[in-house]
Amino acid sequence: MKIKWTLVFFVVFLMVLFFSTSVFTSIADTDKADVVLKNGKIMTLDPSWPQAEALAINGRTIRAVGTTRDIEAFVGPATRVIDLEGRPAIPGFIEGHGHLLALGQVQMMLDLSKARNWDEIVTMVAETAQQVKPGRWIQGWGWHQEKWDKPPTHSIDGLPTHHELSNVSPQNPVLLSHASGHASFVNAKALELAGIGPDTPDPPGGEIVRDHNSRPTGMLREAAQGFVKDAFLRYQAQRPSREIKAEKMEQIRLAMMKALAHGVTTFHDCGSSLSTIDLFRQLADEGRLLIRLYVMIKPDGALAEKLPAYRLTDYGNGYLTVRSIKLYMDGALGSHGAWLLEPYADKPESTGFATESIENLTRTAELGIQNGFQVNTHAIGDRANREILDIYEKVFQAHPNKMDLRWRIEHAQHLHPDDISRFAALGVIASIQGIHATSDAPWVVKRIGEKRAREGAYVWRKLWDSSAVVTNGSDTPVEDIDPISNFYATVTRRKPDGSTFFPEQRLTRKEALKSYTINNAYAAFEENIKGTLTPGKLADIVVLSEDIMTIPVNQIRSTRVVYTIIDGKIAYTNHEAMR
Ligand SMILES: [Zn+2]
Repeated sequence: MKIKWTLVFFVVFLMVLFFSTSVFTSIADTDKADVVLKNGKIMTLDPSWPQAEALAINGRTIRAVGTTRDIEAFVGPATRVIDLEGRPAIPGFIEGHGHLLALGQVQMMLDLSKARNWDEIVTMVAETAQQVKPGRWIQGWGWHQEKWDKPPTHSIDGLPTHHELSNVSPQNPVLLSHASGHASFVNAKALELAGIGPDTPDPPGGEIVRDHNSRPTGMLREAAQGFVKDAFLRYQAQRPSREIKAEKMEQIRLAMMKALAHGVTTFHDCGSSLSTIDLFRQLADEGRLLIRLYVMIKPDGALAEKLPAYRLTDYGNGYLTVRSIKLYMDGALGSHGAWLLEPYADKPESTGFATESIENLTRTAELGIQNGFQVNTHAIGDRANREILDIYEKVFQAHPNKMDLRWRIEHAQHLHPDDISRFAALGVIASIQGIHATSDAPWVVKRIGEKRAREGAYVWRKLWDSSAVVTNGSDTPVEDIDPISNFYATVTRRKPDGSTFFPEQRLTRKEALKSYTINNAYAAFEENIKGTLTPGKLADIVVLSEDIMTIPVNQIRSTRVVYTIIDGKIAYTNHEAMR
């Protein structure tokens, strides 16, 4: 009996000790939360506690989640308490595929994405040409002939010829990039500076579009854009380097501000040059990165020696990670540049083309695996996807000791049905862009026919059900960075005209949210610190105006970001959305 009582006393003593250390010290004044969110719908995406009302943040990380009453205990005199008034909070959006510098650059260019026809574009260029000094390049971005309400007056295959543009801008070279980024339209001055004439041969992997007399029309596909881009680089090279660097820094800042306003707390930057990565690193050193970057290196020149020095994990207080390489296998479907197994339905003489040789891609993939880098390859057409799966498979087999590689295929847009299950089998991540399905929908069947479109194009549901990890992104600036538009497209597959594009390939809202948070964290080896609202993880959180998981579908797109919290700090507040 005596022994039993001692035991009971000892257990009680232990319980008191446990309580005093866990609860009492947790609410000691010195240990109160910096920020508390209460009276909300906290969607943690953590299966162990999927929904809560309140959340406490200490420093950079999430301290606790629970009921508003539970979290009251963490409120001290210095705690900032935010009453969510029923609004939802979700993990910060992770942009799975974007181009940060380009996103900043387009904000300094003519936005042609909303132009209703070619005439409007000519007018915009004409106005700019009157304002800038002769010789200065005029750049525009985002035009797409399929969006026009009428064809150009003088057209070849639905595309304009350069003459009108050349007339309104005789002294200034004009470079207008297609929305896909895989073609450009230029004027006579730009053709002249690029040295493109009737006798210029098409470069490998590119096409200079010509009229009946074989004169260039101004349209340049894929690698043919290189001539003009080189001419632009020559122009840039004459400018003072300090001026160019300042311009780039400003572009990066503009892009980061835009990301924050859309609730994006981490951005997967899909292919930056080493010199751009140097700028990211400088910004990280100076504490000036406003969002977290997961950067893929776009190889240029002597990658082999430089690769080890550029591998950065959680650099700059967790704001910069560089541990992957971005490669390209083909072009885009819209510009007939995607590499297909069978010819295009609307261009039967062509199957598109590879933009890089299998040998080069294999060599770089080898380099990646030897240096512990993830390899992420752009592949659109079914042939491109098959070839890159083959390359990955071969490289994996040659290095059986390398584990947890998480290599990705960016876009994975059009797949042969036989290749769908290979993603999960090889552990290859399908890095999709939900919104590409609805943006491209008006012309996909025209390009590849009904059967191929149904069986293998934008097959998010088939990929998800095959157990592949499916991640999501916008490919911004190809599409708007807005994750909510992308979420809407992913769960509805609804086209601008209201009809749906193969709706059987929709993801559920839960899946779509995971594809934009935890799955993107996984694709960056960061699922232990991001992607769910779990105590201990980074306090990267977005508060929305509406509950996108339950509101009627037609209200999803009017949902706005109210707060973007990153690293425990409120980095963006939308006062209008609070009314
Ligand atoms: Zn991209």
